[in-house]
Amino acid sequence: MAIIDHVDFNGFMEGVKRRNPYQPEFVQAVHEVAEDIFDFIEDKEQYHEQQILRRMAEPDRVISFRVCWEDDNGNIRVQRGWRVQNNNAIGPYKGGIRFHPAVTESVLKFLAFEQTFKNALTGLPMGGGKGGSNFNPKGKSVREIMRFCQSFMTELYRHIGADTDIPAGDIGVGGREIGFMFGQYKRITGQFTGVLTGKGLEYGGSLIRTEATGYGAVYFLSEMLATKGEDLHGKTAVISGSGNVATHAAEKFVQLGGKVLTLSDSGGFIHDPAGITQDKIDWVKAHKTHRRGRIEEYCEAFKGAEFHPGKTPWHVPCDIALPCATQNELLGDDARALVANGCSAVSEGANMPTDLEGVHVIKAAKILYAPGKAANAGGVAVSGLEMSQNSGRRAWKEDELQQMLKDIMSGIHARCMEYGQREASYCDYVKGANIAGFKKVADAMLAFGVV
Ligand code: NDP
Repeated sequence: MAIIDHVDFNGFMEGVKRRNPYQPEFVQAVHEVAEDIFDFIEDKEQYHEQQILRRMAEPDRVISFRVCWEDDNGNIRVQRGWRVQNNNAIGPYKGGIRFHPAVTESVLKFLAFEQTFKNALTGLPMGGGKGGSNFNPKGKSVREIMRFCQSFMTELYRHIGADTDIPAGDIGVGGREIGFMFGQYKRITGQFTGVLTGKGLEYGGSLIRTEATGYGAVYFLSEMLATKGEDLHGKTAVISGSGNVATHAAEKFVQLGGKVLTLSDSGGFIHDPAGITQDKIDWVKAHKTHRRGRIEEYCEAFKGAEFHPGKTPWHVPCDIALPCATQNELLGDDARALVANGCSAVSEGANMPTDLEGVHVIKAAKILYAPGKAANAGGVAVSGLEMSQNSGRRAWKEDELQQMLKDIMSGIHARCMEYGQREASYCDYVKGANIAGFKKVADAMLAFGVV
């Protein structure tokens, strides 16, 4: 007879902390998921017996490597690169690459862990992974970025493949960087395969991939509001970030009849009481993406807007909050301010933007709250559709993809409701997302035996 170790939650987390010293982001991500999973598996012997949660909290592998490149002045620069292959129980590893000076192994392990649940939620056959480097693209010339991307791929290529691990973009990695990395992969291997997603349309990319994460976060928000008989008309939103996710979330929010009050970057936030309309969003996209400008310059372009240096936007009164910049950007006090100001819904475009205290405050207030792993899954979902198009050597039309994205977000919402709706008038979407994602991956792992 098997000896079943029914370790309690605290005992489990002590073990995670001990095995992952100095990795606070990873420990935080596991903590948040395990809180919900412990309740769910309490009476489900097979998950205990097979140590499923313990196995899921240990990445399949973490690959760490040196990336050398030469800057424009001829100096040799050394960075560290990683690929975390977290879990491939339901499909090949899939998840973005992040270039940012704050990238550490802990950050990438947390992101790969979250990605595993998110990808499961989409209903598509994709496992979870994440990669990146502490390289800072800011202030680098295009040639420097190209040389870095090529050097990064010169090591990464041996660990990835269209049926093993398919990276995509993330913070600091957009279409340009994907192009440099895809070009290098093709050059080294001589193969033209769908090994990366987020590619340019000319060479196998998918329509609406760029827009998908931000649009998806707003579609998910609309699904949540619909459960209360509401929509976005006349609602105000506070949005953080001014990159890919933030600008497209703003765009869809405005298209669906809402008014966006703020955007931000790491320098602070801008507040435009008149509303950030489509032409202003277009200006932000052009200014930030193509000219690498700062959000504070918005106030020179559009009168009536104010810049608040070094601050996040959560204290501006609003109906809806969309954190779309980075992890741990919405803290306990911010969550209290949102609730006190009457905010009725939070939809996370970014990954883990709300810290644990903030999550507890929002959950206690019982407002609508979509965690990133559900709300921002539209990006990876369309990446999954890009993989399908690459395998089938075809390209779907924009309206077909828009409909698929909407259907996928609606499916994720339904899966969250299935496991998160405990009271007639309240759905705990965090719990729902965690359990639905866990169950799919866990059941596949059970089928494989002890591996
Ligand atoms: P971008 O690089 O396009 O934009 C990131 C934005 O966040 C920038 O405005 C940046 O400001 C800001 N930012 C970054 N770090 C900080 C910080 N420490 N404090 C305040 N602001 C910060 O990235 P994305 O829009 O692609 O990604 C945003 C979030 O969404 C990330 O959490 C990412 O993991 C998540 N996500 C992205 C997906 C995608 O498809 N792109 C898919 C799913 C999730 P600055 O310019 O000053 O650095």
